[in-house]
Amino acid sequence: MPTRKIHLKSFGCQMNKLDSSLVVGALGEQGYELTDTPEAADVIVVNTCSVRENAENRVFSNLGHFKYLKKSNPNLRVAVIGCMAQRLGDELLAHEAVDIVAGPAQLHEVPALIAEAMGDHDKHLSVSEKIRQPAASEQVITDSHKLDDFELAYDTDANHIKSQAFIRAMRGCNNFCTYCIVPFVRGPEVSRPPEAILEQAKKLAAQGIQQITLLGQTVNSYQYKAGEKTYTLADLLGQVSEIDGIGWVRFITSHPGRFDTSILKVMANNPKVCPYLHIPAQSGSDRILKAMNRGYTTQQYIDLMDTARAIVPGIAIAGDFIVGFPGETDDDFEQTVELVRRVRYKNAFVFKYSPRPDTHSEKKLEDTVSDEVKQQRNAKLLEVISEISAEDNERFLGKEVEVLVEGLSKKPNLNRAENNNNPQLIGRTAHDYIVVFNGPESLTGQFARVTVTKTAPLTLFAAPRPSTA
Ligand code: SF4
Repeated sequence: MPTRKIHLKSFGCQMNKLDSSLVVGALGEQGYELTDTPEAADVIVVNTCSVRENAENRVFSNLGHFKYLKKSNPNLRVAVIGCMAQRLGDELLAHEAVDIVAGPAQLHEVPALIAEAMGDHDKHLSVSEKIRQPAASEQVITDSHKLDDFELAYDTDANHIKSQAFIRAMRGCNNFCTYCIVPFVRGPEVSRPPEAILEQAKKLAAQGIQQITLLGQTVNSYQYKAGEKTYTLADLLGQVSEIDGIGWVRFITSHPGRFDTSILKVMANNPKVCPYLHIPAQSGSDRILKAMNRGYTTQQYIDLMDTARAIVPGIAIAGDFIVGFPGETDDDFEQTVELVRRVRYKNAFVFKYSPRPDTHSEKKLEDTVSDEVKQQRNAKLLEVISEISAEDNERFLGKEVEVLVEGLSKKPNLNRAENNNNPQLIGRTAHDYIVVFNGPESLTGQFARVTVTKTAPLTLFAAPRPSTA
């Protein structure tokens, strides 16, 4: 029988990319192969994100195209999985293009649902009822573990870089920030047993993986009680770093509330734990932080960043901000700008507020800031972030840095002729700085030392290695 082809479209965060990679891995065990072309696929899997309206709109526009493809290929099956599937359920299933809808807690069922839909040509729905209620939570825990037991597929977005892999430490969130839909679609926090994580990391290390990133929506909340001991993220980082073959360990994303300094201590004392912290502040105004239900004040956030820098000198801090949250005044926004100037992020992502259905802010707070003002604040904040990174990155000029090489850069032929025909490569430092340099492609997946010759806000440019010049 010819190999069946699967086309994957994955939207959203790293967590989603990891889910995609597990689902593709499971389908791979059933003989499916990935294809880049939807026209060549027997099955299209769309892993969706509900965090922003734009991501949902893109899913619908893709479904429009897939509906058209089904006209010429009636055997094509389309599965919509992930957060949007959980949020919209039947509504999504009613779409002409869609055969299967499966929520984030049902991803382990996707291969079976596809097999059924292939056979009966019916529509199939599997999402959690009342995902936040205790009985459903228990089910989410059991089902989450089933998904994470799948083998990872390496040729999806999350794992296209052959030297690195993502491992889920936990899923879900208990924070209920007023603008966020995650707790409603991904359910409560569930931490995986440490032995499952370590076993997976050992397996990956044996396959040549050199960098592990532990994932969780609020990964610093990781807690797993086994007998007398409660395992924390700091324990996990230490244990993963001890695995033979693992060079670097990272974690994303952290929430500033309940951030335990033991994580910083393990980072300071263990050179394999990368000195990089992605820790969204979201706003620099206490009034807005309260309205967002973030659970900390600006001063508490600043104190935590100062502590991080005292314990881990040189730590790279990255953030996220939302501009134009309901009620955000010019003065609130200026306080956010001040916070950015005070913390001096390595980089930060800025999002314009858009209300998400069924969240507290959508139901109770008026979206008062105009699109124009949101746009202006977005541009201004990005400009300040970029100015700071440009200034701070200059300190790397002339310095040697170690990078884990990810592969060809987006412009592999740049400066090729002057560099012994070596392509331009891209790598990242332990502090998560992006470095491009010309070198042999065989360095992909290896650690390399390069010297920085030029800097920009988001990129360091380095000289070719002496042996390749
Ligand atoms: S911490 Fe807040 S923003 Fe992050 S996933 Fe949880 S509810 Fe959403």
